[in-house]
Amino acid sequence: MRSKLLPLLSFRTHIAIVFGGLVIVVAAALTFALGQMLKTQIQRDSGGALSVIAKNASQMLADGLYDRSREVQVLTESPAIWSGGLDGPEVAHNLARSQAMRPNSLWIGVADTEGVVKSATGGLLLGKNVKERPWFAAGIQRNFVGDVHPAKLLASLIPRPATSEPLRFVDFAAPIKVGGKVVGVLGVHGSWDWARDVVESLYPANAKARELSAFIFDRSGAVIYAPNGKTAEYAEAGMRLPVSLSIAPGRDGEDQPASVMKWQDGQEYLTAVVRMKARSVASDMGWYVVVREPVGIAFASSHDAMLRSLIVGLAIAFVTGVIAWMAAGRVSEHLTTMARSARDVELGLPGASIALLDSSAEVHALSTALHNMTRRLITLNEQMEDKVKLRTQELEAANRELDRQSRSDHLTGVLNRRGFEAQLKIALSSAKRRSSPISVIMVDLDHFKQVNDTHGHDVGDQVIRHLSDTLRQRVRDSDIVARMGGEEFIVMLPDTDAKGAQILADELVKVVASRQAPVAGKVTISAGVSQLDMKVEDLTEMLKGADEALYVAKRSGRNQAVLHDAGAMASMA
Ligand code: GH3
Ligand code: MG
Ligand code: MG
Repeated sequence: MRSKLLPLLSFRTHIAIVFGGLVIVVAAALTFALGQMLKTQIQRDSGGALSVIAKNASQMLADGLYDRSREVQVLTESPAIWSGGLDGPEVAHNLARSQAMRPNSLWIGVADTEGVVKSATGGLLLGKNVKERPWFAAGIQRNFVGDVHPAKLLASLIPRPATSEPLRFVDFAAPIKVGGKVVGVLGVHGSWDWARDVVESLYPANAKARELSAFIFDRSGAVIYAPNGKTAEYAEAGMRLPVSLSIAPGRDGEDQPASVMKWQDGQEYLTAVVRMKARSVASDMGWYVVVREPVGIAFASSHDAMLRSLIVGLAIAFVTGVIAWMAAGRVSEHLTTMARSARDVELGLPGASIALLDSSAEVHALSTALHNMTRRLITLNEQMEDKVKLRTQELEAANRELDRQSRSDHLTGVLNRRGFEAQLKIALSSAKRRSSPISVIMVDLDHFKQVNDTHGHDVGDQVIRHLSDTLRQRVRDSDIVARMGGEEFIVMLPDTDAKGAQILADELVKVVASRQAPVAGKVTISAGVSQLDMKVEDLTEMLKGADEALYVAKRSGRNQAVLHDAGAMASMA
């Protein structure tokens, strides 16, 4: 069922919409597929680049931790340095040299077994007891690397630019052994700014434009390095490793490829997570180096490409729709033509018919079928009309003949009683209008029974026909002869009064008697004459006078005509 709210669309509009719509669907599907393809590729390529940065940073951090740890160990295992006492000039010289080699080592010092600082770079903390510091407690036992922590005793002693983050250290320590005996602990506080230097050295040239940023998280997932000195800020905001520790890359496991992750700030980033692979047990901090790029920027080129693809697709859809619309034009035009012709045929316009059209095979087939069908229907209709006309004419003729037959006598061909009465009515109305008289002569063969008895019925019929012919020959064309039944006839005489009728009746009697009837020879007739009384309504009543006059003629010896006389008749009765 068609919705009534929508107007009927033309065939060509349908085609245009279908084709345009199809192209839009295809373009959308292709665009989507293209976008997915590009995203996958970008994730692989850009993600790969992020992973490389993270891996390199992780490698450099691991190397740095290991190298420092080794340096401290090598120093502590050089008896020549320590043999002159922990506060000797050899020690001070070596500490200063070591710091000069690594400017990130903000403090290098030596404490005796009681925790009292005996020698230190810059003379900082000399004589102070560091027994409670974790680096001392661990360093007197073994080669130690401590995780990032804020500076405590040195925080106020080492100047920092106001803008930078609070001072934080990574500690390195090892027991000092002389002759196999522990005599003290060597400790190094390395500035955590080192991590920033490492990470920033690895940023590609376009890192700023891409909003690339690198983070370091400790083994518990807490942030220990964030770019732009924002570590504390991020930590307070609750930033954690963006992937659950349980599924984060393991120490021995393969690093996972970069993927899109949702960070605590609610934003999505293409993120590479690498777990630092330590080079020694002591330097294994379990850190994660993470490099991220906002998805909006990472996939910007794919979004651009999708948008361009969609615009091109829409343009192609529009062009396709227009082309389809134009191409469907001929078919549509032909359908309209057919519909118009069919309407003309329906209205019965002269010469209307369905034209043969050929814009497509289907239209050709349809127009041919409709053309033939309408031609056939029109022809059938015409034939039917002709037939009906002919039949109507035949029927009318038959009716006329039937009417004639019902009004005429079959033996003689003159009118019968019914026909006579009809003619009498017409003559009466005409006579009344013109006030002219009408008279009748009632005629009956005399002793006709004898004719039948003597010569048979057939001869009787011939005699009746003979009488009919004789009567017709003797009267005027305007007079009417009719057979009333048996051998009885009546003659109606318009414009004739009783006197004229009497003269004619006498003549008829004479003529019949003078002529030879077939086989029977001479026959005679009796006649009753009467002028009709127009005032009488009933026809039988009107003819009664002639009847009575005929009766009188019979009674008076036959072969004569008697004029009806109202007075005489009354006396007879
Ligand atoms: P009348 O002089 O008194 O008229 O004597 P009639 O013999 O003519 O007597 P009536 O009129 O009573 O008899 C008429 C006869 O005519 C009776 C019937 O047998 C005969 N007849 C009536 N119609 C026909 C007909 O169509 N053909 C023939 N052959 N005879 C008829
Ligand atoms: Mg009779
Ligand atoms: Mg008779």
